[in-house]
Amino acid sequence: MDLAPPALEVLPRDLSAYRAGNTGIPYVHRIGSGRPGPHVLINALTHGNEICGMVAATHLLDSGVRPKIGTLTVSFAHVEAYEAFRADEPFANRQLVHNLNRIWSDEWLDGPEHSPELRRARELRPVVAAADHILDIHSTSQAVQPFWVYPGFERNARAALAIGARGHVAVHLVMPQGLGSGTPLIQHGRHGQADGAAGVALVAECGQHFLRASADTATAVALDFLAHFGLIEPLPPPARPPAAPQRRFELLQTCMVRTPAFRFARPLRGFETFARGELIATDGEAGEIRAPCDGCTVLMPTRQPIVGREAVYLSRPLAG
Ligand SMILES: [Zn+2]
Repeated sequence: MDLAPPALEVLPRDLSAYRAGNTGIPYVHRIGSGRPGPHVLINALTHGNEICGMVAATHLLDSGVRPKIGTLTVSFAHVEAYEAFRADEPFANRQLVHNLNRIWSDEWLDGPEHSPELRRARELRPVVAAADHILDIHSTSQAVQPFWVYPGFERNARAALAIGARGHVAVHLVMPQGLGSGTPLIQHGRHGQADGAAGVALVAECGQHFLRASADTATAVALDFLAHFGLIEPLPPPARPPAAPQRRFELLQTCMVRTPAFRFARPLRGFETFARGELIATDGEAGEIRAPCDGCTVLMPTRQPIVGREAVYLSRPLAG
């Protein structure tokens, strides 16, 4: 685990020019083509310090992208958290109270609690519900290769594999049983249901939060997503063709931090593998986390354990 201050290659920029939008909902921009076709949502900043999505979203708006068919919506989800960024504590503004990516169930959205995230999720609810296809752009605290995260529905896998073949995001974390720690934006409403009526909803984890390469990946994958659904012209082949076949992992378990004594057994960055029974972490009185299978691959190990938040995702490679 790298606890040294990260290189801040990309910093937040002032988003006030994007506040008004044109939908009546702050920081939500909608561009219609006037022609039939899918409604695609490109969403950035679900987590306040995941700057790459902001770069992709502002690129789409600043470059004047116009869909050929259907409708494009571009949203900045959590600008309030984004604006709380401090260079000396660049991981602190992921969320203010709740994790905006765990509260997309009716229970939370219709429930009695209040927080900046619940207020914004309630505001964005019709935006998410109106979209046929959703790309939710994220990044990781550690510098690892980009990867998709999505519920294990055939429609998601098909789109992610097709877009992943372009090489910008070529690793897949498939969630057969959901996330296990709440309802992410991409599983809100019909997008969380297995039946074929819903559209595609994917998270792209584009690399480490503050790296230029992550911002470039986010922009590239947003354009790939729009091209896949025909909103923009097909893109030329990437400059660097994919070096390796795509890899897929299946989420087995989301481990939470239960006590302040939580410690990983060794420093983890993500994509390390463990043999069955091998110790991954200890968590005080809550016990140990051990690998449930051979080849157990850890993803998104927390940089700083916080009780009640995710500690690490355990997965295993999928064949093919
Ligand atoms: Zn995130």
